[in-house]
Formats: sequence, structure tokens, C-alpha cells
Amino acid sequence: MLKGKTALVTGSTSGIGLGIALSLARQGANIILNGFGDAEAPKAEVAALGVKVGYHGADMSKPDDIAALIAYADAEFGGVDILVNNAGIQFVAPVQDFPIEKWDAIIAINLSSAFHTTRLALPGMLKKGWGRIINLASTHGLVASAQKSAYVAAKHGLVGFTKSVALETATTPVTVNAICPGWVLTPLVQKQVDARAAAEGVDGEEAKRRLLAEKQPSLQFTTPEELGELAVFLCSAAAQNVRGQAWAMDGGWTAQ
Ligand code: NAD
Repeated sequence: MLKGKTALVTGSTSGIGLGIALSLARQGANIILNGFGDAEAPKAEVAALGVKVGYHGADMSKPDDIAALIAYADAEFGGVDILVNNAGIQFVAPVQDFPIEKWDAIIAINLSSAFHTTRLALPGMLKKGWGRIINLASTHGLVASAQKSAYVAAKHGLVGFTKSVALETATTPVTVNAICPGWVLTPLVQKQVDARAAAEGVDGEEAKRRLLAEKQPSLQFTTPEELGELAVFLCSAAAQNVRGQAWAMDGGWTAQ
């Protein structure tokens, strides 16, 4: 379905980003990976699906690095057809104790990076006459939790940004949507599970059960693979009139 297209997935060396990259690659899309840590293992995993794979180590908190990432996509892949703004970090503290540098980093990586990638990649999509922009927001783009003021502000901002750009592109063949996962067991959430286990004196399994029971009625984690298949749907022809949505995949979290 996506043969000949190129997907740039930011923050795809682990977790949800890697899951989405693999789902898009299974549909034939060439993949540009980005993110910190080991890039060789994810590159090999994607390449095994028979598509072209590249990697750029841009720090998504830095506009100059993002410009270099898009220039790399243009030079090596002929541009970006599918942009998945996924890179994100979390930090948990009450607002009066929230470190200023953590606030700035969360806003830069979880929100402003999507502005920079979009402003740089959208002209190429419009010129080619097809494009998909998928922003990884969160249930925290729709509702809040205590101690996550920066993350909630960034994700609500990302949902608003999604709607605005979707309206600007509404009559074009480029669609813009957000995906809002509930709990997904990735390194980002494992840290919160570990913190809970330590704080409440329980083992990891019990900490996971408590985390889910508090918010997610299905009592199951959403998986990167399930989110990947939602991204594939948003790239399909059937989704051409899905525009400006914040699509939850959250086990019922935001239905409450
Ligand atoms: P993760 O920690 O597994 O992966 C995050 C990725 O972003 C990694 O590849 C990491 O290297 C990369 N990254 C971090 N800072 C970066 C930077 N400055 N520049 C470039 N890359 C950077 O996390 P995840 O859970 O897979 O999260 C992916 C996205 O999904 C995030 O935007 C997160 O907010 C969102 N999300 C996660 C959950 C969840 O439950 N895990 C729920 C809702 C939304």
C-alpha cells in the first residue's frame, strides 16, 4: 500500500516510534529513523522487511538539527511523504517544584519539534500532491493528570496544532491527525512503573496493575503494534477525509 513512499518517524529507536516504523515498513514504505541510543538494531529490524532505511540523529529539541534532518530526507529519500511526530519525553513533579530546564525540554521535544518538522516537510508534500502528518499526542492531550503539567500542556498544544494545520490543508491531499494513546508499556512508562513500585513497596507486576487500574478500564496496555496499525489506516485512501482528529486508543480512559 505504501510502496514508494518515505516515512520519517521521529524518536523511533524504541517504543511506539519503532512500532509505527515497522508497521509502515510492512506496507512497503521506506523509513527514516531518528532518536537516541542504539540505532543499528532498529535499522536492521526495519531493513529485514525489504525497504530502504536511513537514520539521522537529530536532537529534536534543536531547530537547526531538525532542519538538517529534513535536508537529509530530501537529499537521500527525495523528501518526506509520511511525517510521524513521535519523539517525546516525560518528567513528573508538582508545578512549584518543576525544574525549568525540564519544562523547556518537554515543550521543545513534545510540541515545538512538530512545528519545525511540519513547516519544513509540508511544502514538499503539497508539491508532490500527497502527504500524511501523524502527531503522537496522548490521552494527556485530551485530559490531565496531576504532576504532569509540562507534558499535559505540550500534548494539549499538539492536539491544537494538529487541528489548525488540518484546517490549513483541508482542501489538499495532505491530511493531519493526532493519535492519543493511553498507557503503552515502553521505556517511557517503565520508568513510571519502577517509580511506583519503589514508592508503594510493591513488585513490578503489582505496580503495573495499579497503574492500569487507576486510569485504563480495559486493564490492558495498548501496544506499539496496535498504534502502528492505526497509523497505517490513517495513511490509507479510506482515511483521506479523516482530518484534524485526535484519535484515542486508550482502553476507555477518556470515555470515563
Ligand atoms: P520511548 O522513551 O520508548 O521513546 C521515545 C523516543 O524518543 C526514543 O527513540 C528516544 O530516543 C527519542 N527521543 C527522546 N528525546 C529525543 C530528542 N531530544 N531528540 C530525538 N529523539 C528523542 O517513549 P514512547 O513511550 O515510545 O513515546 C513515544 C511518544 O508517544 C511520545 O511522544 C510519548 O509522549 C507518546 N506517548 C506515550 C505513551 C506511553 O504510554 N508510552 C502514551 C501516550 C503517548
